[in-house]
Amino acid sequence: MKVAFIGLGNMGLPMALNLLKAGYQVAGFDLLQAQLDAFKAAGGISMDSASEATLHADVIISMLPASRHVEALYLGDTGLLARANPKSLLIDCSTISPKVSQAVAAEAKSKGFAMIDAPVSGGTGGAQAGTLTFMVGGEAKDVEKARPLLEKMGKNIFHAGANGSGQTVKVCNNMLLGIQMLGTSEALRLGIANGMDPKVLSDIMAKSSGRNWALELYNPCPDVMENVPSSKGYAGGFGVDLMLKDLSLAVENAQNLEASIPLGKLARHLYETHSNAGNGQLDFSSVFHLKED
Ligand code: NAD
Repeated sequence: MKVAFIGLGNMGLPMALNLLKAGYQVAGFDLLQAQLDAFKAAGGISMDSASEATLHADVIISMLPASRHVEALYLGDTGLLARANPKSLLIDCSTISPKVSQAVAAEAKSKGFAMIDAPVSGGTGGAQAGTLTFMVGGEAKDVEKARPLLEKMGKNIFHAGANGSGQTVKVCNNMLLGIQMLGTSEALRLGIANGMDPKVLSDIMAKSSGRNWALELYNPCPDVMENVPSSKGYAGGFGVDLMLKDLSLAVENAQNLEASIPLGKLARHLYETHSNAGNGQLDFSSVFHLKED
């Protein structure tokens, strides 16, 4: 089976490399030469454009930053829907707006393509280890066709519902994660202000009702845990600006549907304040250091 992989960034590159390891023939394209070089050095077929990479592909996977990049890749006179073979299965793994995801999938369908949205959770570590969680939206037959491939990059493959549902689940999950990280940071700061050792406080709360993923596996207070961004100067991991993007998707989605998400809105404001203070490229757990307005 021939795979085309478009977007070989922090997530896309290790995902594409796992497909190579599993024996797939993978042709890749990225706008950045450094990413293409890394892909080629690992045995991938590096291409000069997305249309060249996708010409003979059975499956086309995209892993791009945001909605506008996905629209630009697939739509319009020069987009893949106008150029690729309609027999190719399209899998968009980028985190984008559910509305845009549905619109691109509908356009793909009208041109004879099968398309699913398959955003991921698990970060760059999960992408490297092949243990990502995929949240998939689309027709069941297309999801089943994609499953063997997704299983080479991830451990949990969930069919969430119709096109766009994968993105909806991703937006809900990341809004909850963003809020949990803020709440966990606040609880730790309050304890520290009272003279508590943050490790003792974390150990107790992790066995109490305040238990959550940020506290247990991704503690935002430096030196409570080894091998997490907070103990490495908040380098690597999941950037503040990517969290801000996901919270903006949540707020936009809620506004369109008149859903009430006061905490999601507040979380977006707080991550925006933190990003504007020059922390956009740090890991999102650096909100631990956010000062009150
Ligand atoms: P990234 O910025 O590292 O990679 C994106 C890549 O896409 C870049 O290398 C860029 O050059 C390339 N690109 C942009 N437009 C292109 C085009 N038209 N053709 C070819 N290449 C193009 O971002 P990332 O961290 O890999 O994230 C990708 C997606 O995955 C985002 O939607 C992000 O929200 C989501 N995500 C990221 C993480 C994480 O921990 N980094 C976790 C889960 C989901």
